[in-house]
Amino acid sequence: MKAKRRIIELIEMAEELARQGEIELARKYVKYAIVYSRKTKTKIPLEFKRKFCRKCYVPLIPGLTERRRIKSKILVRTCLICGWVRRYPLRNKGVNKDYKSETR
Ligand SMILES: [Zn+2]
Repeated sequence: MKAKRRIIELIEMAEELARQGEIELARKYVKYAIVYSRKTKTKIPLEFKRKFCRKCYVPLIPGLTERRRIKSKILVRTCLICGWVRRYPLRNKGVNKDYKSETR
């Protein structure tokens, strides 16, 4: 699974760049990961798919490019760059446990 490895690397790099404030460059890396996944017909693993905004492709980092709130067992993630909002129900303990612990 060479392609998958490459996609993960690109998204991790994008995240690192975003942390350094290189938002535009970070976005380019995410876009490249998406193009690459299409080209190679390789799916982006779900946990990595959740690491970036589906609308503006900025890596989502809580407190930096993303706001997280929990409202009546629903995790609300907001992209601070473009305002994209996504809701995740927290009923499924196994899947969303990591989100719960990260959000305070
Ligand atoms: Zn966005």
